[in-house]
Amino acid sequence: MKIFAIFGNPIKHSKSPIIHKLFANQLNIVQQYEKIYVPINNFNNVINHFFKNGGLGANITVPFKKMAYNICDLLTQRGINSGVVNTLKITKKNQILGDNTDGIGLLKDLKRINFIYKNSNILLIGAGGAAQGIIYPLINFGCTIMITNRTYKKSCHLLKYFNNKKNINIIKIEDINNKKINYDLIINATSSSIKGVIPNISSSIIHSNVFCYDLFYSNKITPFLDWCLYHGAKKISDGLGMLIEQAAYSFFLWHGIMPNTTLILKKFKTNNYF
Ligand code: NDP
Repeated sequence: MKIFAIFGNPIKHSKSPIIHKLFANQLNIVQQYEKIYVPINNFNNVINHFFKNGGLGANITVPFKKMAYNICDLLTQRGINSGVVNTLKITKKNQILGDNTDGIGLLKDLKRINFIYKNSNILLIGAGGAAQGIIYPLINFGCTIMITNRTYKKSCHLLKYFNNKKNINIIKIEDINNKKINYDLIINATSSSIKGVIPNISSSIIHSNVFCYDLFYSNKITPFLDWCLYHGAKKISDGLGMLIEQAAYSFFLWHGIMPNTTLILKKFKTNNYF
């Protein structure tokens, strides 16, 4: 049996096992995919134990994407570009290969729902692993990104990591109200929705034409998207589409075959697999 798993803390909310089961059924692949809870200071031990005991591939979620990057022997170009990884694979030579499929998964979903254009002006809220993973594909697509985060220092680290590229800027979250910038797309890449709260940010960013995207997903509207609607946004989406797309690119890395994500997204919603 081929064994895969997702590692995170918290992990209870993750829908990745259901999605990978749907992919495997669609493509007649026999595999096992589990959720593994990792104590905050024990990532390296848990992941090494998994690979020593036959694990072939892993997805990595909050808050371990940087730690996962650090244990890789090899990286894909996407992994190199982002500096964090959400997908690991054991190679034939028993090395750990790291990839980042979050960015390409998000971009694919944003295109599907027509939330992004080549020159979109994006406000990215959050500077954790998910935020870092999506920056490169978005600027590479032609967008401009303003990063804001509860902890300003982390925005500074991201700016430095991306080498102060001219289409990335940072702003203190408390200064948002003073700079009247008209964003085309706002992406909430914080983990605040997991706890049912929203980032403490000025509602001046919301207007009726702005697209609002929450990386978090749920069977009901996320707290952030609810807040966006309340302040006048009309076009909102949660991160379910991204979740399925990024999972499909991980699946491709492991099995060399791409699932039909349109069918899986439909199936997920119809069967209310939340
Ligand atoms: P990390 O733990 O690496 O980063 C968390 C980020 O959220 C940090 O920027 C942190 O700010 C911020 N944050 C946490 N709580 C609050 C709060 N109450 N107010 C404001 N900011 C807050 O997590 P990840 O980056 O890995 O994941 C972020 C989210 O994205 C999660 O909800 C995850 O489920 C989702 N995700 C969804 C995917 C999808 O496919 N749909 C894929 C990947 C992630 P600070 O620096 O100040 O601590």
